[in-house]
Amino acid sequence: MEKELELFLQEKFGKSIQDASNEEIYAALLGITKKRMEGLKRNEGKRKLYYISAEFLIGKLLSNNLINLGLFEETRDVLKKYGKDITGIEEIEPEPSLGNGGLGRLAACFLDSIATLGLPGDGVGLNYHDGLFLQKFRDNKQNEEKNPWITPESWLKRTERHFEVPFKDFTVTSAMYDIDVPGYENGCNRLHLFDLDSVDESIIGNGIHFDKNDIRKNLTLFLYPDDSDEAGQLLRIYQQYFMVSNAAQLILAEAEERGVNLYHLHEHVCIQINDTHPTMVIPELIRLLEARGFNADTAVDVVRKTCAYTNHTILAEALEKWPVSYLEKVVPHLLPIIRDLDARVRRDFHDERIYIIDKENRVHMAHIDIHYGYAVNGVAALHTEILKESELKPFYDIYPQKFNNKTNGITFRRWLVHCNHRLSDYLGSLIGTDFVKDADHLEGLLKYKDDEAVLNRLLEIKKEAKADLKKYLKQTQNLDIDENSVFDIQIKRLHEYKRQQMNALYAIYKYKEIKKGNLPKRPVTMIFGAKAAPAYTIAKDIIHLLLCLQQLIDSDPQVSPYLKLVMVENYNVTKAEKLIPAADISEQISLASKEASGTGNMKMMLNGAVTLGTLDGANVEIHDLVGDDNIYLFGAKSEEVIRLYDTAGYCSADIYDSDPQVEELVDFIISKELIRIGDPVNLGRLYKEIVGKDWFMTLLDVKDYIQTKERMLSDYEDQKAWAKKMLVNIAKAGYFSSDRTIAEYNRDIWKLS
Ligand SMILES: *Cc1c(COP(=O)(O)O)cnc(C)c1O
Repeated sequence: MEKELELFLQEKFGKSIQDASNEEIYAALLGITKKRMEGLKRNEGKRKLYYISAEFLIGKLLSNNLINLGLFEETRDVLKKYGKDITGIEEIEPEPSLGNGGLGRLAACFLDSIATLGLPGDGVGLNYHDGLFLQKFRDNKQNEEKNPWITPESWLKRTERHFEVPFKDFTVTSAMYDIDVPGYENGCNRLHLFDLDSVDESIIGNGIHFDKNDIRKNLTLFLYPDDSDEAGQLLRIYQQYFMVSNAAQLILAEAEERGVNLYHLHEHVCIQINDTHPTMVIPELIRLLEARGFNADTAVDVVRKTCAYTNHTILAEALEKWPVSYLEKVVPHLLPIIRDLDARVRRDFHDERIYIIDKENRVHMAHIDIHYGYAVNGVAALHTEILKESELKPFYDIYPQKFNNKTNGITFRRWLVHCNHRLSDYLGSLIGTDFVKDADHLEGLLKYKDDEAVLNRLLEIKKEAKADLKKYLKQTQNLDIDENSVFDIQIKRLHEYKRQQMNALYAIYKYKEIKKGNLPKRPVTMIFGAKAAPAYTIAKDIIHLLLCLQQLIDSDPQVSPYLKLVMVENYNVTKAEKLIPAADISEQISLASKEASGTGNMKMMLNGAVTLGTLDGANVEIHDLVGDDNIYLFGAKSEEVIRLYDTAGYCSADIYDSDPQVEELVDFIISKELIRIGDPVNLGRLYKEIVGKDWFMTLLDVKDYIQTKERMLSDYEDQKAWAKKMLVNIAKAGYFSSDRTIAEYNRDIWKLS
């Protein structure tokens, strides 16, 4: 590495390593790493996977690629020799903003694991120029700005592939960009990102506003453009069709290049449809096969044996249903096929709950996936059970063999080795480094459960990570936090079902207790990171409440020595990598049954945080693994919640009216203290929402939550017992390696080699 680096810097900038700037060293490392990846063997096999996803939240790539290429330590040491710090060089790299949250991050972890297991499988998505918006706080509110990340030199490689994509009124020619995905000590796959040369960033005006009708210029500008009006929904249909038409054409082109007989396509190709956004790949493939001479029955049959679908949510509002009239305006050529797919269902079944086109003339995308895919999976054990027993029961009754569970996972290369070198190195010194590739080896840690030296070192490592975070937040947001306090962290997209508002009520509780003189034994630092969808009003009101609480607490000298609330701006993968190693308490407090899996819960567990959560998503499996002593559970169970929804049996006003303690906490949202700081419109609306509706049942669980968190904070004071909980959590996290998840997908669904 040293020689290569020297040569590159000399040739490109005429500088030595010593004299080169961080920017120049970054450019050199980017160039060297890209070249190395080109030399890697490509994973190949008889059947190839295409993982189609609207999001790939890949994060910065330099360190991870170096780790997977086995070059990280050498590079770090070379740089150190010349007085350079790799952390500073990593800062130069912009984070690709190609994803939104857990679903996109999952796709990224999967690419890493697919390559690491040596399986032939590429990702297919879109090359959004500005991706998800950049979040800025102003006047205690979220503002959205564009988030450009593509620089002249980047991981993207323009390819020679172009496809014609036909829309109703015009046809566009795509361009395909590739990002290499190296496996850990294994071969290489690719992420294919499609784009349009005519896209024009200069049409973005104030914030993230742009002309939604100018498709040639706006098609790949943003991920999830505002769809609160018809133009926005049409744009999303344009994006989805552009993605899958390119995917389908690429799949057929590669198959034909490999000499595959398309009548046997399913023996050579497998398509994983990540959530419903890529659903139109099914009618599009049928259309393309028919254009190659297939009759309809055969095309449907081949496609059905090729496609598999992952369901990520049971939230009704998140299941896509496009009006037929909208599809007519964008992709009229797909409608005869979609109508035929619907007619086939109606021929075989007489149950309108499972039709593709409903009475209101809307196309249920998930229904296409389930009828015309060969596998349907949920993403955690509880989630899959709920799909089978309630949300998708009519489908499960007809296709029980299609349904299966694949509990999500995370790549340990990024979420331990890269983001927490100290912990990773220490674990390596205790149990060897096999866990990086074979995560079950982490269980070897259990034999140190009563080893005082090990427990003390785990506490020290946590403290050092907290000090790192303190430094980072000082540098980036000029925030001051105390590394001797308890770090209580809730980082995830802002959504009412995730219940950041319940955590805010805890902050209010604690504030009031401190005002009354009930001081905590140790200060508590509550850390939040969350973006709200730009059109999601209540979510933005919750952010406003959190920011107002932050200001209120900060400006109160009676409270601030004991309680601190900080909101990290623009939560993304880079921020997650700094926050997760520093977490003591992992907040996973979704309303039971609503969080399909969660993966933040897994990342924090792996880094020695203890979960405070409901029995929801993968929390259920975390509990099964670590046992009652090493997790803090509270709140209503999923069966109870489902029953409450079925019987309309929940009324937040009843709880508010009958419980003075709850009333006092909720009333504080519109107290004179907060109104003085905040906007009465936002705070008033949130107050009304919680008292009058509370669709995600905050008040049902809030008291149990507060009590459980208090017990947890008190237990934290027994540091030795706490360290033991940390150790058990780390040791048992092996199950959540995405290598395990991918091995299961391959064994049960993909069958790649
Ligand atoms: C892991 C991750 C998520 C998902 O977090 P959940 O707590 O599972 O919702 C979202 N955003 C980023 C940046 C992540 O790294």
